[in-house]
Amino acid sequence: MPASETPGVAGTDSPEGDALPINELFASLQGEGKLAGVPSTFVRTSGCNLRCWFCDSAHTSWEPTHAWLAVDDVVDEVRSRDPDHVVLTGGEPLVHEASVALLERLDARGYHVTVETNGTIHREAPIDLASISPKLASSTPTPERVPGGEHEDAARRWQRRHEAARIDLDALAALIEDYPFQLKFVVTDADDVPEIRDLLARLREAATAPIRDEDVLLMPEGATRERLAETRGRVADLALEHGFRYTPRLHVDLWNDAPET
Ligand code: SF4
Repeated sequence: MPASETPGVAGTDSPEGDALPINELFASLQGEGKLAGVPSTFVRTSGCNLRCWFCDSAHTSWEPTHAWLAVDDVVDEVRSRDPDHVVLTGGEPLVHEASVALLERLDARGYHVTVETNGTIHREAPIDLASISPKLASSTPTPERVPGGEHEDAARRWQRRHEAARIDLDALAALIEDYPFQLKFVVTDADDVPEIRDLLARLREAATAPIRDEDVLLMPEGATRERLAETRGRVADLALEHGFRYTPRLHVDLWNDAPET
């Protein structure tokens, strides 16, 4: 499948009215962050404005796949499952205006909704937890990081675009000011820490809401048990050393890289 060049979803037409390109919809345990372990229904939209080389949901970014669902149908699907927590994720769910309609309807029905976002887009909507994952320089796709095939060519084209878009201080500050939040950084090793500290200093200057160290989560890079075994120990040590919070990736520990987990 060719790598997608568009932030949204290429090659398909949205039906009329509020609808979202849905890649997956399933119930599982929240695997990451402050609510790790909480039974949740995941609504995963397709389409992203970034192209992290390590994206663990490449079927929503590099090679987006989906079925268009009316927002009302998404709500019905959520209601047919047990959890009262919902995670709206992607891709980048806030690239879609219709995500606001979905969030409003879920809020009206009393769901607690976490939005997993890369922090480059702010929308006004009822969000119970903004799980913001700013992308560090180590996320930028380069031909060396995604060798082989069409992704290598796409990485060449996306490198500059990704680098220019990955941090938007205004959007980050607005998300932090408007919503309960967690700042979740995917960390490979100690080289990532100075950049996290630098971004935090700039954000603390830009945002009027306080950012406590316990709101800053370090998450080991790795979408498979094998890779997590390499990264989790050193990322836990970094959290301890710098006073940040460590977050596991429970779903990888439990189910490795199985879909719909
Ligand atoms: S921002 Fe998230 S969904 Fe988009 S490419 Fe990066 S890891 Fe994948």
